Amino acid sequence: MSKKIIILGAGESGTGAALLAKAKGFDVFVSDQGAIKDKYKNELVSEGISFEEGMHSIEKILSAELIIKSPGIPDKAEIIKQAKAKGIEIIDELEFGFRYLTGKVIAITGTNGKTTTTLLTYHLLQTAGLRVALAGNVGESLARKVAMGSHDWYVIEISSFQLDGTKTFRPEIGILTNITPDHLDRYDYKMENYSNSKFQLVRNMTESNYFIYYADDAVTGSEIAQRTISPVKVPVSLKQTATQVHYNGEQMVFQFGETSFTIKQTESTLKGPHNLINTMAAVSAAYLAGVKVESIKAGLKTFVNAPHRLESVATIKGVEFVNDSKATNVDSVVYALGSYTQPLIWIAGGIDKGNDYNIIKADVVKKVKTLICLGNDNNKLKTFFGGLVPEIKETQTVKELVRLALESARKGDVVLLSPACASFDLFKNYEDRGNQFREAVLELKREVES
Ligand code: ADP
Repeated sequence: MSKKIIILGAGESGTGAALLAKAKGFDVFVSDQGAIKDKYKNELVSEGISFEEGMHSIEKILSAELIIKSPGIPDKAEIIKQAKAKGIEIIDELEFGFRYLTGKVIAITGTNGKTTTTLLTYHLLQTAGLRVALAGNVGESLARKVAMGSHDWYVIEISSFQLDGTKTFRPEIGILTNITPDHLDRYDYKMENYSNSKFQLVRNMTESNYFIYYADDAVTGSEIAQRTISPVKVPVSLKQTATQVHYNGEQMVFQFGETSFTIKQTESTLKGPHNLINTMAAVSAAYLAGVKVESIKAGLKTFVNAPHRLESVATIKGVEFVNDSKATNVDSVVYALGSYTQPLIWIAGGIDKGNDYNIIKADVVKKVKTLICLGNDNNKLKTFFGGLVPEIKETQTVKELVRLALESARKGDVVLLSPACASFDLFKNYEDRGNQFREAVLELKREVES
């Protein structure tokens, strides 16, 4: 009889795991306590995989030999506790996919910068002609990719939740972009637990693997000093010119054994200091994966990042409109403001998650000529920046927003939507906010230019 696998949760990772388990000949059953999206339900039906939704049949689940859980299900969930008590092996989809892949993995984790670094690394390998797949949080699950065919390289974006469910997972190259407090609710509000989770990235790595990390990050630095790290360390720094990979104020400098090379940020499509870090990490990974420097340089010129991250939407009457809707906290806005030298019309607001605007105060005073608040309740922003910014405007509609912005702007200015807040007061999510902004800008452009 074939081994019985139960999959908990039927989102992208659960469905991917189910497809791989089926392809490997297991007896698979999928259980989702909520509703399963039609897209995934149709796939399960067409593959002949049985499932339930809106419930967990406890007895059936506890008869499994292996449980694969979605990263969204915490260890504290009742069903997980019961399965653990019974001694059933519980792993994550990532671990399951890894057990069946042939090829090598580049895994990217960190609090911020994961998607950008993952997409850029993938692009650099792909434009070099390597047989590479993109998987994880961005795009399709690893298990699905493994079920669909083999590749030489897998570039995977991983959250700390996913790392929690790994055992043998061992990337050839691991990238840690940074560790700042986030999702602490999942880690009993202990930073130490969150760091431990992130460092599972290197747990199984050996001396023949590489660990690329951002050395200026305080938490990462002190964790590395305290831990035994087996893989070859490749530190990346924005400040320290003695570091193996660094930025010297003019260009990025890479040193690998006898080889050294430099790249200017203007040779890439990405802007801002945070993207220097992401670029240095992705370029290092691509180089260590065997991509030639010339090919890396060519790839940097053609990279298009995911939307809503300092996305240049259009230029109207010499004013550039930028969509950075993904910036839902003040930390992200620090980087956004640092990416421009031009006068800014800054659009912020939404649901404030306890923001401390002091960390951006100096930059705002230096660069922002108009602040436009886009939220239901803009009092905190208006109170903090009143008197600091020459002009403050307010609106609740995107259509009016882009008009107000253009009115305040002069040729050469930049209109920057980088809200520092969540979007749920006026929008479905940050994507919806960014999409509506993009459409309104493009419509205004058509009107102005017709
Ligand atoms: P993630 O996938 O980790 O959320 P993204 O690449 O989507 O990261 O970037 C999300 C936001 O985080 C960006 O809009 C930017 O403001 C900020 N960011 C990107 N890279 C970094 C970095 N290396 N360090 C700090 N912040 C960053």
